[in-house]
Amino acid sequence: MKAALLDQSTVAGLGNIYVCEILFRSGISPKEESILSRGKKSGVTKRVERVTAATHDVIVEAIDAGGSSISDFVNVEGDLGYFQNSTFVYGRESEPCLSEGCDASIQRIVQSGRSTFYCPNCQR
Ligand SMILES: [Zn+2]
Repeated sequence: MKAALLDQSTVAGLGNIYVCEILFRSGISPKEESILSRGKKSGVTKRVERVTAATHDVIVEAIDAGGSSISDFVNVEGDLGYFQNSTFVYGRESEPCLSEGCDASIQRIVQSGRSTFYCPNCQR
């Protein structure tokens, strides 16, 4: 799923930090097969809606945090960005998950050569 969100041909192409945050808020594992390529089968619609809603929220928060336009958002590719100080998972390896009632800690894996941070309990 993560590679699909980073892929410029799938959506506009989202920065690494944002993709990690969107998947966390969607409760979807970064290791899951992309739901965007599975079509309208097998109850996928609800999960797509969660990704869409989380993407919207993250964009709005990133802009509120100091980005002035959608292009600022899209162009953030590296580890720097206004949004960086308000992440739930990104850059928080081994730290406790911030979800209420979750006692897991954030894990880091490498996908497509880039770090992915996620909660193994909240994202399935
Ligand atoms: Zn969690």
